[in-house]
Amino acid sequence: MEKQYPANAATESNAPWTVDDSERLYGVNDWGAGYFNISERGEVQVSVQRQGQSTSVSLLEIVQGMKERGMEMPAILRIENVLDQRIKELNEAFIRAIADVDYRGDYRGVFPIKVNQQCHVIEEIADFGRRFNHGLEAGSKAELIIALSQLRDNNSLIVCNGYKDAEFVDLGLYARQLGINCFFVLETPAELPIILERSKALGIKPLIGARIKSSVIVDGHWNEDSGDRSIFGLSTSALLDVVEQLKTAQMLDCLQLLHCHLGSQIPNIRNIRSGVQEACRFYAGLIAEGAPMGYLDLGGGLAVDYEGARTNSTHSMNYRLDEYCVNIVEAIVESLDPLQIEHPTIVTESGRATVAYSSLLLFNVLDVRNHDPRPLPETLPDTDHETLHNLFAVNSTVNERNFQECYNDALYYRDEIRELFRRGHVGLRDRALADNITLAVLDKIAKILKTIERVPPELENLPELLCDIYYGNFSLFQSLPDIWAIDQVFPVMPIHRLDEQPTREAIIADITCDCDGKIDRFISPQGIRNTLPLHSLNQDQEYYIGVFLVGAYQETLGDLHNLFGDTNVVSVKVNDDGSYDFVREFHGDSISDVLSYVEYDPKQMLEQFRRRAEQGVRDKIISASQRQKMLSAFKDSLQGYTYFEREAQD
Ligand SMILES: *Cc1c(COP(=O)(O)O)cnc(C)c1O
Repeated sequence: MEKQYPANAATESNAPWTVDDSERLYGVNDWGAGYFNISERGEVQVSVQRQGQSTSVSLLEIVQGMKERGMEMPAILRIENVLDQRIKELNEAFIRAIADVDYRGDYRGVFPIKVNQQCHVIEEIADFGRRFNHGLEAGSKAELIIALSQLRDNNSLIVCNGYKDAEFVDLGLYARQLGINCFFVLETPAELPIILERSKALGIKPLIGARIKSSVIVDGHWNEDSGDRSIFGLSTSALLDVVEQLKTAQMLDCLQLLHCHLGSQIPNIRNIRSGVQEACRFYAGLIAEGAPMGYLDLGGGLAVDYEGARTNSTHSMNYRLDEYCVNIVEAIVESLDPLQIEHPTIVTESGRATVAYSSLLLFNVLDVRNHDPRPLPETLPDTDHETLHNLFAVNSTVNERNFQECYNDALYYRDEIRELFRRGHVGLRDRALADNITLAVLDKIAKILKTIERVPPELENLPELLCDIYYGNFSLFQSLPDIWAIDQVFPVMPIHRLDEQPTREAIIADITCDCDGKIDRFISPQGIRNTLPLHSLNQDQEYYIGVFLVGAYQETLGDLHNLFGDTNVVSVKVNDDGSYDFVREFHGDSISDVLSYVEYDPKQMLEQFRRRAEQGVRDKIISASQRQKMLSAFKDSLQGYTYFEREAQD
């Protein structure tokens, strides 16, 4: 159960607000994993390690740099150094664990392409990962093509999961012929005959892996996919069928890898350990059947602590990277040593934990709607309806003792006025006044609630009902689909003004006009809460918000809801001297791009509009030069960004 927390941003205190207060409020040090922190100037900065030195760059500065280069909000910002550092940390943690436990085998990481297929992300992983022989996992033909073109040496692995047709198999076999360690992992027994047939036809021997269904049920969001109900993997009997088929074909020597993926974002280390133990039993069983084996692939699942809570709740994790590696290595040693089985090469397919930290979504706030009551008149004229007078009287009597009664009275009278309005007995202005007096009452009650210990259950939601709505220039469906699809939480916070106390409590709405297009669950050091403390907007100054840890899954699952397209993307590399380079820039979709995705022909659309405008000229509604203006506005829009564009400001 999630607890409700009353709004706490605006609690009064006399000490001046400092960046440390912001740090605690938004929990940056808890979820930032050392990559993100707040500078003295009150701006979020990204910190990267270079030769033991830490270098920091302000995100606001990067946003200004983007603006100067014509890259408007919203935008995805990637920090290449963070991606490099994650790959390094993952590999070095396994290397350390292997040394500590005296493990006589290697580690080979593979990055699952599905987690972020963007070309420059994969290029960076292939490039930087090369020193660790970090490979790629492919789940489709398209992804295998990516892997074959991006990896450049034969020491890293390509692991092929997913259904494989003859064409897929041929590609993988040619890779074998080139000496590439390309494994076909069997998801179903039906795949094996295709592999055997193509192998025979081409005269190339495959490397085969078998994916098992683990019976370990894991905590977290993906627990339905684990255990016997998993839709992937071979049942134990099917695994034995595979062994028989391979024996018959005299190709049991090709079976060298056991694959076991327990699920994504596994928050509990005990599940991982149990999964490894069970996988080792299967591994040993296959050796007993006569397969050579050599590789134990434990899939993905290494979690990201989105909440920074270090617990086994869905969006957190109760272990550190080092612990993850040590637990795996130890569990293998404990399981296989008694059987005198050689230590296998350990493979993991960490996706989320590799890329989540390196991307963030940045957007500006377009507008704010609040529920602050407007100033009330001193008295109401005698001519006003009696119910309005009653409501007005409630407002002047609210105090610490009677607030619950006042709450009920106010809602009662407000509804009464609405009923009278419906029947035509009071007018528009009376109704507006009633709503406003009610807001004034609720506002007073909300302030009282902040000062008391026990909030009556019926009033628990009041602070949320009264919170502001900040309209952000982004589409949740395009850029943060997991918030909508699986109630994912990400760290969200302003990237500047953090030396100022945020005085508002808000939820964030996107610009899709869809009632699901909102963020209303936020991490906080006290747990998940339903509102986020934010600053009131300053006139003539943009307010920028960052959504962090979005490098995994978000970009590729996004859709074109309301035809908001891909956002701008920049990749930044931080240099040792604290300067940084925009190494890559990608302009997001134009309106014309998204229209053609749904089969419109922008040229034809322009022509159709031209005809209408020309008709206007013929009918003398507009002049020819007005027609020209209209057509160029139409053309400019077609070429423009799908998001809200501000005229030069700031
Ligand atoms: C999705 C997936 C992964 C990646 O999992 P993460 O939890 O992101 O590390 C790895 N292996 C397989 C087979 C997958 O389907």
